[in-house]
Amino acid sequence: MNKKHERIHVDDTVLCKLCLSELGEIYSDLELAADELDLLDMPRRTFTVHFPVRMDSGRTKMFVGHRVQYNDARGPCKGGIRFHPDLTIDHVRDLAFLMVLKCSVVNIPFGGSKGGVVVSPKELSRNELEQVTRGYIRAIAEYIGPFKDIPAPDVYTDDKIMVWILDEYERIKGMHVPAVVTGKPIELAGSRARSYSTSLGGIYVLEEALSKTGMGELRKGVAVQGFGNVGENAARILYEKGYKVIAVSDSKGGILNETGLNIHEVTAHKEKTGSVRDFVGARNITNEELLACDCDVLIPAALSDQLNVSNAGDVRAKIVLELANAPTTIEADEIFFQKKIMLIPDVLANAGGVVVSYFEWSQNLNSEYWEEEKVVRRLKNVMISAFNDVYGLCDEEKCRMRRAAYQIGVKRILHAERLRGNL
Ligand code: NAD
Repeated sequence: MNKKHERIHVDDTVLCKLCLSELGEIYSDLELAADELDLLDMPRRTFTVHFPVRMDSGRTKMFVGHRVQYNDARGPCKGGIRFHPDLTIDHVRDLAFLMVLKCSVVNIPFGGSKGGVVVSPKELSRNELEQVTRGYIRAIAEYIGPFKDIPAPDVYTDDKIMVWILDEYERIKGMHVPAVVTGKPIELAGSRARSYSTSLGGIYVLEEALSKTGMGELRKGVAVQGFGNVGENAARILYEKGYKVIAVSDSKGGILNETGLNIHEVTAHKEKTGSVRDFVGARNITNEELLACDCDVLIPAALSDQLNVSNAGDVRAKIVLELANAPTTIEADEIFFQKKIMLIPDVLANAGGVVVSYFEWSQNLNSEYWEEEKVVRRLKNVMISAFNDVYGLCDEEKCRMRRAAYQIGVKRILHAERLRGNL
């Protein structure tokens, strides 16, 4: 099985557990009434479909697909489609709720959903993968659409699969409907800047945090754990902006140079050797050493549960920017709060991807293609204003940033429900 997808699936479980346990406390802090709790507790629509696919052998096989549209009070539902053999409706429901929360925290006009097919894609031929995708879309076509529910890539699904989704939906409707799905290739109504939007969104949040806290110049530099899509783009963007990136790592270990790394050269080295390790001009370190290194900003961008009760006390950074999902346990979050380390939570820090998905949808609805500069400028505005909302509440309530972010997310959802007359 592809390691990346296996890992992200595990991440999701930890993420749901963390988020949902913290939410219980938020609900009591906010003193929610029983009807408000009921409304947040129950998804609006949950459905399971069974659909036939003619396999390459000529045999027909039945597949199971799920979709949960958790809440659409703030706008059409938005959420990925994953293909995974262990997919369950319960997990899909938790992930759909997290999408509602994330879209609300960054204040984009979407609700949240999630879905997928119970299948191991590595066991399918390309043709079978396409038929499974098209079969699933035929089964749910009535329930998705630009103003109902807009799918996107997730575990084991990519831009090629988004094109099949688009094509199948358009055949059913008999017209072009590019805004039915996001994460499409640029040549077929995708958006510029989407490939690095998660990292760039996080860096805008970081820069706003630096200016708000008066930290100004980062003398010691930044350490980034993980050198995949998110970590490498974050390190590259920081380096190109003139920040000193002193340490990076991947699953094989890390490297450190207190005077700064040339990230373009590190990328070339990784492409050649398969790892950042043994880079000339830096010394090899372990991942534990990276997390505890003497830096101003630490960016976990790999796995969940990396910062926990056993190592949080060793962290020397002043800011932790969670680009990974759930890299910090609740206990570590509390330790950082006591040590006055600012932790910028995942639900805010890594929301740049869904923000640019919103821009893709918006461009499609208006038959527009925005220049990269426009996408990036608008991403910056959304991320900065989301940061300031969360930071402002933290300041008022003297609470952890994750707490403030969840409170804002929940309040906005309930407010929309109230305006609609549902509360
Ligand atoms: P990826 O698979 O492209 O990269 C993961 C990186 O982590 C790889 O470089 C891998 O070598 C490294 N890694 C694995 N184990 C490690 C370890 N023990 N120590 C250090 N590094 C290790 O994944 P990605 O898309 O970059 O996602 C990273 C994280 O960001 C995940 O938590 C993911 O859920 C989250 N995230 C990603 C996106 C996105 O747009 N891709 C959006 C939101 C959140």
